[in-house]
Amino acid sequence: MLKALIDIVFPPMCLLCGERSPEKGFCDGCGGLVEKERIRPPLCIVCGTPFPSAKGVDHACGRCVEEPPSFTSARSAFVFEGKVLEAVHKLKYGGDTALAGPLASLLSAAHLPEGLSMVVPVPLHPARLKERGFNQSLLIARELSRNYGLSLVYDRLKRARDTGQQVGLKAAERKKNVSGAFTLDGGSFFKGRKVLLVDDVTTTGATLNECAKVLKKAGAEVIAITVARAVKL
Ligand SMILES: [Zn+2]
Ligand SMILES: [Zn+2]
Repeated sequence: MLKALIDIVFPPMCLLCGERSPEKGFCDGCGGLVEKERIRPPLCIVCGTPFPSAKGVDHACGRCVEEPPSFTSARSAFVFEGKVLEAVHKLKYGGDTALAGPLASLLSAAHLPEGLSMVVPVPLHPARLKERGFNQSLLIARELSRNYGLSLVYDRLKRARDTGQQVGLKAAERKKNVSGAFTLDGGSFFKGRKVLLVDDVTTTGATLNECAKVLKKAGAEVIAITVARAVKL
C-alpha cells in the first residue's frame, strides 16, 4: 500500500536513461541491452574467460593450465561493453551509487557455489577511496552479502600499495603493477573459509589473482566474481 503510494508520487525511474521504469533499476529497454552483454558458455572453467567460438564445451584455458591462478574459479556476469560499461562507469565515476543494487542482483545465484562463508570486496587504496568517496566493489559486495545472507568482511584485505590506474597497461604490466599490493589483517580468521571475492570489473584477472594469493596463503579458498569482464585487451 505504502509502496504503491510512493510509486505514484515518485514513479521509479530507470537508472540509465531516466525513463519511467516498472521496477527499481533498469527499464525494459535498458535491461534488455544489459542482458545482451551476458557472458555465455563455452568458457574457461577456472578463470571464466569466454571462448571465441560459440560451440564446444567448457574447459580450462591454456593460461590457467600453464599457470593456475590462486582462486578456484572466477566468473563475470557480463562483457564490459555497451550498457554494462555505461552502468559501471556511472556507478564508479559518476558516483551513482544506487546502481550497486541492480548490478549486484544481475549476478545470478548460479554463479555462487555452495559453502561460502563470507563476501570480501577488492579494496581500494586509502588515497583512491578518499578521492572517490566510496569503493564500488564494496557497495556491490554489500548487496551480495544481503541477497545471499553472507557476512561482509571489508576491513581485513587491504591494498597496501597504490597501484594507480591499470587502464592502458598490458597483461604482463598489470601483473607486475599489482604484485604484492595486497595485505591481510588477522590471516587466521580466513583459515578453512570459502571466500567470495568481489570486484566490479576484471580485465586480465591480475588483481583478483593477487587478492586470492594472500587469502589462499592464509588458508582460504577463493571464488571470485565480477559484474563485468573486459574481453578485448
Ligand atoms: Zn532505461
Ligand atoms: Zn582460464
